[in-house]
This record gives sequence, C-alpha cells and structure tokens, in this order.
Amino acid sequence: RSLLATLLVPGKVPSLAASRLEENFRLIRIERADPALVTEEMKQSVQGMLGITVIDAAFIDVFPNLEIIANLGVGYDSIDAAHAGKKGVMVTNTPDVLTEEVADTTIGLLINTVRELPKAEKWLREGRWVREGSYPLTKATLRGRSVGIFGLGRIGRAIARRIEAFGLPVSYHNRRKIEDVSYSYYPTLVSLAEAVDTLISVAPGGAATQKAVDATVLRALGPNGVFINIGRGTSVDEEALIAALRDGTILAAGLDVFADEPNVPQALLDCENACLLPHVGSATVHTRQAMADLMVDNLISWFTKRQALTPVPETANVKARTYS
Ligand code: NDP
Repeated sequence: RSLLATLLVPGKVPSLAASRLEENFRLIRIERADPALVTEEMKQSVQGMLGITVIDAAFIDVFPNLEIIANLGVGYDSIDAAHAGKKGVMVTNTPDVLTEEVADTTIGLLINTVRELPKAEKWLREGRWVREGSYPLTKATLRGRSVGIFGLGRIGRAIARRIEAFGLPVSYHNRRKIEDVSYSYYPTLVSLAEAVDTLISVAPGGAATQKAVDATVLRALGPNGVFINIGRGTSVDEEALIAALRDGTILAAGLDVFADEPNVPQALLDCENACLLPHVGSATVHTRQAMADLMVDNLISWFTKRQALTPVPETANVKARTYS
C-alpha cells in the first residue's frame, strides 16, 4: 500500500493516532518545532504537519511544500493560522467531537468549586469526619445563582443547556449576538460580569482574548462571584485573579487551564478557594480517540480528496494545490 504524503511530527506521535498515521503516511519525527532541527531533506519533503505544539509563522515558513497542519484539539491558538491562511496552508482542528465531554467537565468543576467536594472528600479520607464530625457547611451554593458564559460557541451552548437543566438563568458575551438563543446578550464582558455572579469562560485563546478577564471584570463579578475557566489560561490576568481570590474580591474560582501550562503559580496553589485541574476538559479515552481520528481523517481527506473536513475559519478558503 502506498503512503499518501510525508508528515512532520514535532514532538511525540499521539498514541491514539499512531497506527493510522503510520499506515497512511511517511512520518518524520523531531523533538520540537524548532527550525534548527530541520534538515534540507525535511524542508523539501514535508507536506503536512501535526499541530501538537506551538507552530509559529517562522516555523511554517521553513517548509515550501507544506500544505496542511492538522491540529489535535478544537483550540488552535498555538498555531499561527492567520499566517498559514496567507501562505495557502490549510489548518484543521477537531470541533464537535469533544463538545459534550468538555461541557460535562465544566459542570463538574463548577460544582466542585461551589460545593467544595474535593475538600470534603479530603476531610473524609483524612479521618476528620470521625474525629471532628461533619464537614463544615459550604458558604456557596448553586441555588439562586445566575450564570454568564464568556464564549457561547459549540461548548458554551452545551454548558448552557446543562445550566438550564439546573434551573439557573444563563446570559452570555460574544463579539456577536446569536439570533437563535433566548439567553440575555451582553455586548461587553464587564457588563456580563456585572449582571451575573457566576462567570464561565470558554472563549478561545489568542490575542483577541488576551487577559480579557482582568481586575475590572473580577470586581464586577463581586464578592459572591465564582469564576470558572475551561477555555484558555491566557484569557485571564492570572495575577489579578490571584489577588481577587486572596482579598475576597470574588468568592472562588475553578480552573482547568492556566497561562503557562503545566506551571501553576505557587500563589494560586496556595489559594484555598481555588479548585484546580490539570487541563483535563476533554481527557477521556473515548473523546481523545475521537479527536485523534478526526485529526487523521482531515489529513487523509486532504491527501486523497483534496478537501479538509474541519478547516479553521482563517484557512476556510485555502485551496488544495494541484499536482501535475
Ligand atoms: P467555538 O468557536 O464554537 O466558540 C467560541 C465562542 O467564543 C464563540 O461563540 C465566539 O463568538 C466567542 N469568542 C471568540 N472570540 C471572542 C472574543 N474575542 N470576545 C468575545 N467572544 C469571543 O469554539 P468551541 O466552543 O468549540 O471551543 C471554545 C474553546 O474552548 C476552544 O477554543 C479552546 O480554547 C477551549 N477548549 C478547552 C478545552 C479544555 O480541555 N479545557 C477543551 C476544548 C476546548 P464570536 O465569534 O461571536 O465572538
């Protein structure tokens, strides 16, 4: 069976995609996306690339015959997709297949944050239930809360459906108002934060959302405020968040994502009112397999039918090159 194309893997071959990649492609592995590691032969032969690490404009420019970068994940802020689009390089991501899973994780994180369930379990495991009695009543409850979603897209809508089932009102902020939902729209993030006491960020990373959740937004959320971040760590001013958690500007935060993963600032680890997860939003075998399959399906479709299945908006108009 002949191989479809030559792919660069800048990092480890994702194990859930390995067999299908090896069956269909010639793979070139390098440690990281660093032009210094690329030989002349690689420069000329690479036609596709896995998006499993930061891929900037300079790295894209190294490969004259590069046609497609297939990202493993729906968030593709680690890839300079605008630059790829200008150069006629397709970028694909893995939307939809992870939506419900990430929404489930968000709800778990919200309840853990508000009802302190991880701390209550620790109380039991440490024998304090026996020695000291019941875990203290939690200050916070979901009852009576009003939820704002920053980034009401595919995942945001799946979160909103779950919140509705809890009987809580939902509002949102996007750049554009959505016509087919009845949730209240706020044209600015700060006006959304003022209107709710529970803010869930599921907006993409990148320049447009850089530190969007800042001291002003947190102050607007208020002393009963709960902030949940399942989107990207870069969209939060982490220092302002730590200050707000310390001085009671907001009540608590639940975070799955951080500004400099996997490094979490000690000051955040020290916050008793923060519930912290190591970026596990989509991290089940079931969903990661679906994501790996969609990444590979995009590559196979591109090199057999000259069409990507799930192009990102910045490269939606990129056309496949025709070979003579
Ligand atoms: P979508 O593109 O469907 O939704 C993104 C939403 O954010 C859109 O409604 C968009 O509306 C809004 N948005 C984008 N930019 C801005 C901005 N600058 N200001 C205000 N609103 C904005 O993406 P998904 O729902 O599929 O995924 C969302 C993000 O979730 C991903 O990009 C990723 O970063 C994160 N994620 C995290 C995971 C985890 O493990 N923690 C797993 C999967 C995803 P509009 O364009 O109108 O502004």
